[in-house]
Amino acid sequence: MLDFVRPTGPAGPSDLVWAFQGRNLIGELMGEQGAPIPLAQLESDFDRVSGLTPVGLLNKRPVYACSVETSAMDMMKYTSGNLFALLGRISTTSFDIVGRAYQLLTWDREHAYCGRCGGVTALADKGQSRCCNACNLSVYPRLSPCVIMLVTRDNECLLAAGAGANRRFYSCLAGFVEPGESCEQAVQREVMEEVGLTVDDIRYHGSQPWPFPGQLMLGFTARWTGGEINIDPEEIDEALWCKPDNLPPIPPAFSIAGQLINSFLSSQK
Ligand SMILES: [Zn+2]
Repeated sequence: MLDFVRPTGPAGPSDLVWAFQGRNLIGELMGEQGAPIPLAQLESDFDRVSGLTPVGLLNKRPVYACSVETSAMDMMKYTSGNLFALLGRISTTSFDIVGRAYQLLTWDREHAYCGRCGGVTALADKGQSRCCNACNLSVYPRLSPCVIMLVTRDNECLLAAGAGANRRFYSCLAGFVEPGESCEQAVQREVMEEVGLTVDDIRYHGSQPWPFPGQLMLGFTARWTGGEINIDPEEIDEALWCKPDNLPPIPPAFSIAGQLINSFLSSQK
């Protein structure tokens, strides 16, 4: 298990590090998928190791994340794969930890300077925040709350294919929560904007961290109360009322969208 307290001391050569090359996680070909790699090994096998940032304590040992660059990776020793591809291939707990590593690495890099005065920032408050050395502004890791909702009408659920999506899934509607808005209001607004329907009986289902790069998906069910489907073509390609025995391709069960749909299917049996 990961303790979220971020170690403040410098990383040692035997400390474990999740190494990213852009959005790709570096793994050892013969190692466990999604496992971190000792720092000394990364430093000897890659041209440049940078942005070393603490992630937490894994089984009481400090663990870190970093960026790596190399002109030629040893393909007999390492793999490089998109973080997204790990979803469903390692446990949810392990994925969420690797996702945290990627989020903190990205956040530290993008908040090296103060947004108010341009001064240099440094980790503060046991690594929970970054503080500006010049003006003391504190900033915290950015999480973007996002509602995702399954709209139901009697024994049907509404599934939609996103505009421009490269994989043709039919999934739940989703959108970011706006400042000044409750999650329930966001559900009602997004459903109206995307498909022109009104809903009520909005119930929380569960949540999922979604580190691409920093969403927190908050799952809801909502009951249709009125309107005919009228899609916003900028957001949605197609939206359909679907019966349990006649479903289009749906997202996998490791995603909260898949869980919302499967939960509805179970309730219809
Ligand atoms: Zn500042």
